[in-house]
Amino acid sequence: MSNEAERPRVLEYPGNGFVITWEPARCRHAAECVRGLPRVFDNTRRPWIVTDGATADEVVTVVDRCPSYALGYRTADGRSRTAPDTVR
Ligand code: SF4
Repeated sequence: MSNEAERPRVLEYPGNGFVITWEPARCRHAAECVRGLPRVFDNTRRPWIVTDGATADEVVTVVDRCPSYALGYRTADGRSRTAPDTVR
């Protein structure tokens, strides 16, 4: 038996020294990310997250502003952000 259906869908976008995670069901479209780092987060584009050229520090700064915890990250130097009740 599998509990796969109970797990939230989390998409991953690898970059240079970091991975951005995005849980669509949590996204409130507040656009903090789009305003903060528009070359990475652009909701008029598909895929809407493009990590090319971004640094881990830029990603951490902007993702930390996401009010819903839809966005998270893991960095090569050990920083991470996940939604408070996300089970890994
Ligand atoms: S800041 Fe978070 S909630 Fe707002 S659009 Fe970006 S991912 Fe969605």
